[in-house]
Amino acid sequence: MEKRTAIVIGAGIVGLATARALALKGFSVKIIERNDKAVGASIRNFGMLWPIGQPDGELYERALQTKSIWKTICDKAGIWYDEVGSLHVAQEQDELNVLGEVYEHFKNDRQVNMLNQIEVIKVCPVANTKNIIGGLYCKEEMIINPVQAIEAIPAYFEEKYDIDFIWGKCVSFVSDNEVYVGTNESHEADLVFICSGTDFETLYPEAFKSFQFTKCKLQMLRTIAQPNNWKMGAALCGGLSLIHYKSFAVAGALKDLKLRYQNEMSEYLDWGIHVMACQNNIGQITIGDSHEYANTHTAFINEKINKLIIDYLSKIANFPSLKIGEVWSGQYSKLTNADTEIFYSPAPGVYIINGLGGAGMTLSFGLAEELIATI
Ligand SMILES: Cc1cc2nc3c(=O)[nH]c(=O)nc-3n(C[C@H](O)[C@H](O)[C@H](O)COP(=O)(O)OP(=O)(O)OC[C@H]3O[C@@H](n4cnc5c(N)ncnc54)[C@H](O)[C@@H]3O)c2cc1C
Repeated sequence: MEKRTAIVIGAGIVGLATARALALKGFSVKIIERNDKAVGASIRNFGMLWPIGQPDGELYERALQTKSIWKTICDKAGIWYDEVGSLHVAQEQDELNVLGEVYEHFKNDRQVNMLNQIEVIKVCPVANTKNIIGGLYCKEEMIINPVQAIEAIPAYFEEKYDIDFIWGKCVSFVSDNEVYVGTNESHEADLVFICSGTDFETLYPEAFKSFQFTKCKLQMLRTIAQPNNWKMGAALCGGLSLIHYKSFAVAGALKDLKLRYQNEMSEYLDWGIHVMACQNNIGQITIGDSHEYANTHTAFINEKINKLIIDYLSKIANFPSLKIGEVWSGQYSKLTNADTEIFYSPAPGVYIINGLGGAGMTLSFGLAEELIATI
């Protein structure tokens, strides 16, 4: 019997995960990417695989499944990862109260511990105990280097699965399972998957318009490699992250904490800033981030946002070097209702997978397996 065929448009993490899930189901897959390599959200992120940010149930299970797939891929393809875990620190009692409640809620099902001022140093030597009064440590979070991983996975997939990549070709039109690249070239397949990230303009713009999509712009910074092979340990997050991730909504004390932030840190809230840092295999510290929502964003980096991020980070951490080597912005697509993704068929045999927001690295592999199983 002839193999069924599929075309995936976009070689970001969603496209890669979709291609893998299709190949596992016996499809012969072509991925068409408009750039010579993926340079979108999937290489611009922290590389945090972050189950702790996911609420209990389906999303948390999906995050664990995705992490397990990442580990298998990384092990087989020789891609670096580090299971350093995460540390959310408190500078004030109200933050500690939230962490305490989150711990009580998670303690039976997740690998969490409450740490005192001395213990936080053991998992994250960078933690600034002059200001930190305790923290919540979770063993489950893992760091990859997104720039290296997203570049290495295609070669591994080509070798391991029936997946081929076509680089540097923009798909301009899809009709009746025919995918057009410019005016002279087209490719045909039984199924077509559009994994185009923040590009809502090119393919099926009406379909994108019918969903409540927006684009989130984030500012990020990266230090130069830390001196003397110095290691920061667990990925570090300040109190502002507690109001960012839905999983922390289990804490009743969050309401008062939010009110205090609104009164005392309104500038941080205005720019959607929460402060996180993690270390990659080159020894650099990736630092972020801010969140601005619009359909079209300014092209420029706002220096004030970066200063706010670094000022906050300096309160919770003492890095050997905070010399910044790289700054950039990235964008991801996000749904403005409570949905965590869309899986939608705008035409027979054509599917759009999009809208994973700030959790695409954490959720894509698991989500793609679930979605492809339904076809
Ligand atoms: C700054 C930042 C930090 C983040 N941190 C994290 C994190 O630590 N952990 C986490 O889980 N998530 C994080 N995220 C979210 C995560 O990066 C995204 O959810 C994910 O990368 C989205 O993947 P994607 O494949 O949809 O998009 P993209 O990576 O943008 O890929 C879409 C691809 O489609 C291609 N494309 C589009 N249109 C066409 C066309 N017509 N023809 C051909 N190719 C096309 C584009 O060129 C692009 O390569 C972060 C995001 C950002 C921006």
